[in-house]
Amino acid sequence: MARPSKHRGARDLAAALRERVRAETGPALPASPHRVAMAYPSPYAVGMSSLGYQRITMLLREAGIAAERVFLPDDPDEHERSGTPPLSCETGTPLGRFPVIAVSFAYETELLGLFRLLDLAGVPVLREERNEHHPRILIGGPITMASPTFLAPFADAMLLGEAEDVVVTAVAEALRQDREAWLDTVAALPGGWVPERDGARLPAMAKASERHLPARSAWLAPEAELSSMFLLEGERGCHRACAFCVLRRTTNGGMRLVDGDRVLSLVPDEARKVGLVGAAISDHPELPRLLEALVASGRQVSVSSLRADRIAKRPGIAHWLRQSGARTLTTASDGASERLRRAMSKGTTHEHLLACAQQAGSLGFDIFKVYMMIGVPGETEADLDELVASTRELAAAARPARLALGVAPFAAKRQTPLDGQPFAGIKVVEERLKRLDRSLRGAAEVRPASARWAWVEHELAQGGAEAGLAMLTAWRAGGTFSAVKRALLEVDPATRRPWTRYEAPLVDPIVRRPPVDEAACPSP
Ligand code: SF4
Repeated sequence: MARPSKHRGARDLAAALRERVRAETGPALPASPHRVAMAYPSPYAVGMSSLGYQRITMLLREAGIAAERVFLPDDPDEHERSGTPPLSCETGTPLGRFPVIAVSFAYETELLGLFRLLDLAGVPVLREERNEHHPRILIGGPITMASPTFLAPFADAMLLGEAEDVVVTAVAEALRQDREAWLDTVAALPGGWVPERDGARLPAMAKASERHLPARSAWLAPEAELSSMFLLEGERGCHRACAFCVLRRTTNGGMRLVDGDRVLSLVPDEARKVGLVGAAISDHPELPRLLEALVASGRQVSVSSLRADRIAKRPGIAHWLRQSGARTLTTASDGASERLRRAMSKGTTHEHLLACAQQAGSLGFDIFKVYMMIGVPGETEADLDELVASTRELAAAARPARLALGVAPFAAKRQTPLDGQPFAGIKVVEERLKRLDRSLRGAAEVRPASARWAWVEHELAQGGAEAGLAMLTAWRAGGTFSAVKRALLEVDPATRRPWTRYEAPLVDPIVRRPPVDEAACPSP
């Protein structure tokens, strides 16, 4: 019988990992002398729910490279106590033994996870402390679309943007070439960035060629957060212009649609749960038909993001989601008031949200969930008053479904019109959250994200290499929020280089209509 978690030693940890992997269905590791680690700086459940991580791992394998998956352990302290490094899922190889570690990085605050992962592996976190005997570290992933510069002190090289066309070359040449020649190779690739040479001069982002679309899962993993779900891209990118969003239309040319029949043809028979993925998936003109077909084949379906205007105008979306067994209908308002949503080119109105709430109630959903942000530039008490009043109205319209308000503090991102906007302040945000909670008690459940860690996210997104180094100082001092705050406050503001400051005005009046033919989208 397995011993309780707190007493587990190296053998137990390796056995638990093998058991987790045995429960998956997925491809075998190719027999290859070329072995690399595909690392994720968060635990297995998170990493295996990342379509990008799975896709890049598979691209390497298809090219004959044995890419083995390594995740931040669920309990890093347990690994430290037992002297067990992070192990690969496929062969149990310690992370530090791989010649190359490719890291998929999604969120700013995963930086502490990266430190822990490398430290447990015995790999110096700082690039300048590594030598030719240490693995080379190549970083890519969604973070590179927004704010990659805080990662500069830790990466040998990075791939910015969509890496599908370039990752195989970058990894294969890391195994073959000496370090300087390899850095030359990466620097010449689209999206290739070598921080030690380029400083804060960033290349344009890479854009994947059409042959790589759509990305889809290679594994069905019961222990993933999206348990045993087959993830499939219905489209990539977005043609809209929300001023806070790094996926807005200026990123890599906007929305690229995948034909509906092709989407359906790629769902394997064994997938009983399907997640349709895409920044603007609810703008896919065939979405109701896709949902209907998947439900008719007896599958559970979920959709990565739903715009309120689309749910409002295409009732088939909520209907088929409910038919597939969904209990929660989720959308986003993002701004507290109509005025703020207009200023951020969000294009969602109270009327759209009201129509969604009514559908949640009438279709039998348990919960109607609305994501929004507070602390956006220019937000006033009057905006919050409007938020409270409109939320009460939505809660009444959604009954018997309950209303949940997911509230995230605004953190400005690079590559957006709101780049450079200050954080509202931890105290300000906490007070606004308390006020919301008080005012909405009995009407809606307020589910806030941490104001403190949103501030950290903001500082990293806006800061450069110095902010990354400050996080390392904080991690070495224990990694608590107070250590992080102390270190980040010492960063000289002058080091925040406006490397791609966006010149567009805050208010972007152009909200192009998406390529949706409403008549072609039948309602149930
Ligand atoms: S619709 Fe969504 S993905 Fe598109 S720009 Fe707005 S927030 Fe970003």
